[in-house]
Amino acid sequence: MPELPEVETLVRGLRPDVTGRMITGFESTWPRQIVGMDSLAFADRIYGQRVERLWRRAKYLVFDLSSDVLLVHLKMSGRLYVTPQGQPRPDDRWVRAIFLFDDGSDLRFSDLRKFGRLYLVGNMESITAQIGPEPLDESFTPALFAAALTGRARSIKPLLMDQSVIAGVGNIYADEALWRAQIDPRRAANTLSSTDVERLYHAVRGALNDGIDHEGSSINWYRKADGGTGEHQNHFNAYGQQGRPCGRCGGPIHKIWLGQRGTHFCPVCQV
Ligand SMILES: [Zn+2]
Repeated sequence: MPELPEVETLVRGLRPDVTGRMITGFESTWPRQIVGMDSLAFADRIYGQRVERLWRRAKYLVFDLSSDVLLVHLKMSGRLYVTPQGQPRPDDRWVRAIFLFDDGSDLRFSDLRKFGRLYLVGNMESITAQIGPEPLDESFTPALFAAALTGRARSIKPLLMDQSVIAGVGNIYADEALWRAQIDPRRAANTLSSTDVERLYHAVRGALNDGIDHEGSSINWYRKADGGTGEHQNHFNAYGQQGRPCGRCGGPIHKIWLGQRGTHFCPVCQV
């Protein structure tokens, strides 16, 4: 599933092509992707609204419209791309929704697995109120991170992936952050010292920023707005590296199951 760096990269790629555009039509071939209303009501309500801003909250793409907010969650296999006016329509049989724009271009939501979701709401708080802080915001401090972990007896890795604790971190970047911080993913959060927490804080931000610098990880369905692949899968230290030598100590990276998720780490230098 796309995580913070993938969604951020997609937002940056789409932003120039969608900002300022007015929505002049909406078509859906998979109405169940729309949450809380049928596709006719959705089309009626979004018609004539202009895209004022596109940004990201956690793993959601957030389109601020003239009077509503459109949130898109890509889930497993969602893709979003703009087809400019006059360009041949891409041969894509997994397009589930098309937003038509006033300049003849359109925004397509393609989703093989059909888990992606569209929300059209007056106020996004109804969807995002329970989500924790954005790890790359200036307001996210080591003290805030420490407070979120205080007294938690759960293993640190599932806690990092808990969206109510911290926004946007999933399986890839949790594994990468813990490798950087040299912390065993199975450690109970309440056994981390303040030095461990401080190191993990910087590791989480470092892993996410590196992911953004490499335009995300294209290990499965994630593609950038232009259809190209991200490069971060070529820079993994732990995720998917089982059997390969740890880049720090040379010992083999192990794969275990933790909270039903494949978890990759170095048992020698992550303690
Ligand atoms: Zn190692």
